[in-house]
Amino acid sequence: MCSAGPGRAERWIMRVQVFRDRCCGSGNCAATAPEVFGQDSNEGRVVLRSEEVSRLQAESVRRAVDECPTAAIELAQ
Ligand code: SF4
Repeated sequence: MCSAGPGRAERWIMRVQVFRDRCCGSGNCAATAPEVFGQDSNEGRVVLRSEEVSRLQAESVRRAVDECPTAAIELAQ
């Protein structure tokens, strides 16, 4: 039997970084990829929940990056 560990779909395939100084608190990212992005309770600015993005999260995170109105999210492979 194979040893336990993350399945292929669960491995991290990229990293994400947020720039809170650019964030306007629109909330698009938290709505699109809530496993990775949240918002703080004061100003609504983005909070990064996970710097590492799995294969299963990749599509929604890429969409969040594309749809961020202030380019406050960037990907690194
Ligand atoms: S989508 Fe962009 S501007 Fe909106 S909360 Fe997320 S990081 Fe901030």
